[in-house]
Amino acid sequence: MQSLPLPPKVKLANLPTPLRPLDRLTQQLGGPRIWIKQDELTELALSGNKVRKLEFVIADALQQGCDTLITCGGVQSNHCRATAIAAARMGLRAHLVLRGPMEGVQDGNLLLDNLAGAEISVYDGHYFVANLEAIFEHWKTKYLEQGNQPYVIPMGASNGVGVWGYLSATEEILQQASAFGFTPDALVCATGSGGTQAGLTLGCHLLNPTIEVHGIAVCDSAAYFNAKTKTDVSEWAQRYSNLFDQLPSPEDLTAELSVSSIDRYIGPGYAQGYPELFETISSLASLEGVFLDPVYTGKAFYGLIQEIKQGRFANAENIVFVHTGGIFGLYPYRNIFENRAIKY
Ligand SMILES: *Cc1c(COP(=O)(O)O)cnc(C)c1O
Repeated sequence: MQSLPLPPKVKLANLPTPLRPLDRLTQQLGGPRIWIKQDELTELALSGNKVRKLEFVIADALQQGCDTLITCGGVQSNHCRATAIAAARMGLRAHLVLRGPMEGVQDGNLLLDNLAGAEISVYDGHYFVANLEAIFEHWKTKYLEQGNQPYVIPMGASNGVGVWGYLSATEEILQQASAFGFTPDALVCATGSGGTQAGLTLGCHLLNPTIEVHGIAVCDSAAYFNAKTKTDVSEWAQRYSNLFDQLPSPEDLTAELSVSSIDRYIGPGYAQGYPELFETISSLASLEGVFLDPVYTGKAFYGLIQEIKQGRFANAENIVFVHTGGIFGLYPYRNIFENRAIKY
């Protein structure tokens, strides 16, 4: 396997994260062997997949002389929490632009954002969606006036720079799989802002195009993520072709790219659950000791199991599910799960 050139990165993640088989689940399903890539364990207080992208994005910010990271997401955004903690780790300032409504209590990720010392601005949901660029401009100007150097990180750190996170993770996964003596037939991940899917899709395209990559959407449509993956990869190719001896043009590269997004497991909407999702979360926790979250990984894993049952992977021997983190997202759903404690 050829090894990838890399642009500058800061070290935030503890790599490699473990890859291990879920053999009780595999036996129960009677299908391909399912492996889990434990990227919930990257670092920054279980910040999951965002840590890998931030390693490259923050290096880019530092290269530009920036000292203030401005980013956005929902009130319980894992990405915003990761950015807040990464900023504290690096001695930078973080400003989070959050999409309301703000729930009554300071819980989960918002609690961690506050403890990590981030500046936090919460906007009404409709206003946020309609005016995000203007809000970013407002805060950028404010920081420039104060003599700071702001750097805007887009939603989920999913852009041409962030692609590196899962491009290099693909190499890590293939090396680990090879040490176990197999080549995955497919990699499967949750997809929310598209950067993880884009990195894995590009990674397999460059390193081993026989491996399928499937992004299971937690919002938006398959068409949206197919296009978003190509946009991120095109941006990446425009920016980094100089690192490679021969890379097709961005147009050719994105035309060659085989992108698969599956949008049948979103349920009622982003961060809105359904009974089969909650059932998947509790059964995997007791069967394998693996904790999924209701917003991202739970939907993706439920989708993977359904796709296996429907025969999509009939010819596959090994599938790697990329666990992207999100455990703090489980707590707001605490009342849905049965309390099995017996009081004596
Ligand atoms: C952000 C996130 C995702 C989605 O990754 P994208 O690269 O934004 O598509 C998946 N799982 C968890 C836990 C996340 O926080």
